[in-house]
Amino acid sequence: MVKRKITKTRSALDQRASRTWKHLTKDVRHCFRCGELLVWEFVRIEEKNRLVCSECKLIAYQNPKIVGATLPVRDGKIFLLRRAIEPGYGLWTFPAGYMELGETVEECAQRETWEEIRARVKLAGVPRLYSYPDAVTVTIVYPATVLTRTPSPGPESLEVKLFSKKEIPWKTVAFRSTRDALRDWAND
Ligand SMILES: [Zn+2]
Repeated sequence: MVKRKITKTRSALDQRASRTWKHLTKDVRHCFRCGELLVWEFVRIEEKNRLVCSECKLIAYQNPKIVGATLPVRDGKIFLLRRAIEPGYGLWTFPAGYMELGETVEECAQRETWEEIRARVKLAGVPRLYSYPDAVTVTIVYPATVLTRTPSPGPESLEVKLFSKKEIPWKTVAFRSTRDALRDWAND
């Protein structure tokens, strides 16, 4: 009985995923090993369709990307930045960016914080994770204490400003993960 229930849930999830994520692979056309065209092909051992190289048969796995982020706080207020790049040009968010090979998520979050608001921070507490079936990113958000006296915009930011929980500019926050993480922080 329980088993059947689980199967049903998984199937519903699969259906939802197939409706929502295929667009994330639309620009993936060529095998990164040999350069030939990729095609959707049923991979029997995995029981699902994958992008497979038409020549060397390499499976081009498409997986989410990790984003490291901080909530840079001082005295109960948070430093947000206004983005100087797309996507989300002109909108508010906290420091965040793609994890690089050769660093940990913690290092990524701290590096992005320096790049975007020119602040050194001390990570302070358990991170929260934000993922969505129709998004390519998994955002890992660390609460952080700001050590730098006066944070300022880096090259990818237009402006850096300190907000209390009541002042968060909800109508102009950049991303769904930004909104969800700020809401969780504001409700703490
Ligand atoms: Zn190939």
